[in-house]
Amino acid sequence: MGETVISLADLRYLAPVPPIPAQPVAASGLLSDQLGRPLRDLRISVTDRCNFRCSYCMPKEVFDRDYVFLPQSSLLSFKEITRLARIFVAHGVQKIRLTGGEPLLRKGLESLVAMLAELRTPDGAALDLTLTTNGSVLARKAKALQAAGLRRVTVSLDGLDDAVFRRMNDVDFPVADVLAGIAAACDAGLGPIKVNMVVKRGTNEQEIVPMARYFRSHFGGQAVLRFIEYMDVGASNGWRMDEVLPSAQVLALLRAHWPLRALEPTVEGETAQRWAYADGVAEVGVISSVTQAFCQDCNRARLSTEGKLFMCLFASRGHDLRALLRQGHSDAEISSALGPLWAARDDRYSELRASAPAPAATAQRRVEMHYIGG
Ligand code: SAM
Ligand code: SF4
Ligand code: SF4
Repeated sequence: MGETVISLADLRYLAPVPPIPAQPVAASGLLSDQLGRPLRDLRISVTDRCNFRCSYCMPKEVFDRDYVFLPQSSLLSFKEITRLARIFVAHGVQKIRLTGGEPLLRKGLESLVAMLAELRTPDGAALDLTLTTNGSVLARKAKALQAAGLRRVTVSLDGLDDAVFRRMNDVDFPVADVLAGIAAACDAGLGPIKVNMVVKRGTNEQEIVPMARYFRSHFGGQAVLRFIEYMDVGASNGWRMDEVLPSAQVLALLRAHWPLRALEPTVEGETAQRWAYADGVAEVGVISSVTQAFCQDCNRARLSTEGKLFMCLFASRGHDLRALLRQGHSDAEISSALGPLWAARDDRYSELRASAPAPAATAQRRVEMHYIGG
């Protein structure tokens, strides 16, 4: 018998359909996984497509003209997303982040925002509804998104130097247009805006201080910069530990220019460590996914573009919720199927990576970030 070769694209389909328990179980909002972690945060990828080709996420050599993205019929519709989101909210989710790929490329996204904005937690509270974007079309869309009910946005920006940024997005996209997007989002009332910079040693570390200086003195404290350690997500970015610049070094660099004061976390499970500049003009953060794992508090689930549920950013297999929707199961049945999935969750990849680096074979089986959502 010949050996079975599993291509990158095929990995997206490794997802069993969750069993429906014989007796329906009502959602209590009090789910707890194997490590005692609640379910609070749902990240929904609304498209696997993107107009950028950041080398750490969708390198051009892999995501080229021949790459097969998901067909429209595979994507969850807005109705299906909202239906699942409602079930997740009953189970305790309080925050929803739309992501991708580039979420603003999904046609009519404002309608989905409006549908999600109507959901209420069991206590009657509105959701913390947010979105992560590369900012390329944000200047055009910020107002409509805010009007539809979006609360905040996170914008990714890896440098201020135009040549460095154009090289990193690898489609020659200018910095100025992303800055215009951030400004438009501030004007539309979507602040405070988080600005995420992935730091890759040898590629953009020289941008750390200019970025900090810029965001300290612009947008009146409404744009909060966070430096993210380059992560080993997916199987196509050729990640190497020596390209990770530990957050401790980023902080040392910042401190050499400005005194900093540590801030308390604002919400449970917060990924960023926050710091205030001592002169009080702004705050800044670091996300140390590699050097200081935060799995202990991880309350996040991820829903892929085609409705697969992933319990961890580094999971190699999902659970096919779209099949449950399209097989005609009721909300009560789907909700009952969801509880045991969270209860069985024991993922803590980053903590395990810290104690023993994953063998290359494991990396081959991870899903890509643009598909499951950042
Ligand atoms: N396209 C949108 C964007 O770039 O903001 C949303 C999706 S993107 C996958 C979400 C976030 O993941 C971005 O902030 C991006 O910088 C980050 N990201 C992608 N690959 C990464 C990696 N290998 N390490 C760290 N962060 C990564
Ligand atoms: Fe696109 Fe975001 Fe990935 Fe960059 S990080 S390639 S903008 S999905
Ligand atoms: Fe959460 Fe997995 Fe990241 Fe740990 S590695 S923080 S469990 S997503």
